[in-house]
Amino acid sequence: MTKNIEDLPFSAKELQTFCTISKYIEKHDITYNMIVEFVEERKKQIAEGIKESSTKIIRKCPECGKTLSYRVVTEPKGRGNLNGYTWNWACFACGFDEYTYENVKSALKKYGKQGE
Ligand SMILES: [Zn+2]
Repeated sequence: MTKNIEDLPFSAKELQTFCTISKYIEKHDITYNMIVEFVEERKKQIAEGIKESSTKIIRKCPECGKTLSYRVVTEPKGRGNLNGYTWNWACFACGFDEYTYENVKSALKKYGKQGE
């Protein structure tokens, strides 16, 4: 079934990109399947990235049970941060305050919760 070139559901710009890609893959022996695999892999990575970014760090206050707020300590070790702490848990409800050596990755692993 031959399609009229005018009826292609792509814009001139998309077709131009297609031409550029076609020329490139021909020149470099890239197969259609390699591209499909690459795109699928990228889609998976993006989906995992979204999943990770929707994970929230939720830790309950050991004193009163409210959700603690936290901040990454940016002061380098030295005056104002004698122990070189990297993380601060704080409870606005009861004043609980704790400094740790957490980072976003380890906090996500320990206290990460999906969605919400
Ligand atoms: Zn508290």
